[in-house]
Amino acid sequence: MTPITIALSKGRIFDETLPLLAAAGIVPNENPATSRKLIIGANRPDVRVVIVRATDVPTYVQYGAADIGVAGKDVLIEHGGEGLYSPLDLGIARCRMMVAVPEGFDYASAVRQGARLRVASKYIRTAREHFAAKGVHVDLIKLYGSMELAPLAGLADAIVDLVSTGGTLKANKLTACEHIMDISARLVVNQAALKVKRQTLQPIIDAFAGAVEE
Ligand code: ATP
Ligand code: MG
Repeated sequence: MTPITIALSKGRIFDETLPLLAAAGIVPNENPATSRKLIIGANRPDVRVVIVRATDVPTYVQYGAADIGVAGKDVLIEHGGEGLYSPLDLGIARCRMMVAVPEGFDYASAVRQGARLRVASKYIRTAREHFAAKGVHVDLIKLYGSMELAPLAGLADAIVDLVSTGGTLKANKLTACEHIMDISARLVVNQAALKVKRQTLQPIIDAFAGAVEE
């Protein structure tokens, strides 16, 4: 048996990947929500799961430290996808990438007047491509979290962030003013591993695909 390594982040990606793993006959021995272990075994002795930051999943798979992983489309766009094969939209961890501004800020009129906007985001590449395509002039400010604070603290006019219910925006008196794209998580596979370990990896990919279609 060729051993394989699966990279997952704890939280929603791990939780929502569990049923897909189960469809492939893989049951992790522990949940990272309660365990501090970063390497988790499974019911199958040839499988191990490594727990990494959501943004690090593509990097582990790109360099072959993990053979497969699950990462949000947001994370994959920022990473760039080098060395990755991304065969499957898993339809999990769904949300939307949005532009948001303080309530009362007239975004449409600012754009119409050609104003230069300061935009804070964790998703610089996505934001740059979005505003370039729309011909909106922006100065982008890279943040690593709590984007909602940026307009409130006077750091930026707008943010680009993930929105699911809109509850966090509302709690901070922000409003979503532009939809950039729908986001969900994808299966990513190391291109070299897929060739060398196809006998082990292909059945897992197929089981994931079957479980997603249901
Ligand atoms: P952390 O929240 O620990 O700082 P993170 O934000 O990178 O890390 P998660 O919050 O688990 O990690 O997000 C993982 C992925 O889930 C994201 O890359 C995105 O694709 C998706 N996601 C993020 N926020 C939401 C949400 N509110 N609803 C649904 N999916 C989301
Ligand atoms: Mg998060």
